[in-house]
Amino acid sequence: MPIYEYKCDACGEEFERRVSLAEAKNVCCPKCGAGRPRRVLSQFGKSSGFKGPRPDSARPMPTPTL
Ligand SMILES: [Zn+2]
Repeated sequence: MPIYEYKCDACGEEFERRVSLAEAKNVCCPKCGAGRPRRVLSQFGKSSGFKGPRPDSARPMPTPTL
């Protein structure tokens, strides 16, 4: 079964659920219990080429490593 990532529009909670397509409609927010959370694409563990937001813009300043 695929793992879906959800975001609750009511409280902003983000969570993952491993559900079947039938169950995906019945997912509720674990935090506030609101139904019909927004389904978002998982950013990790899926495609090998996608690395999220640009690494160079995500790291504005180089931090010295000790
Ligand atoms: Zn919620």
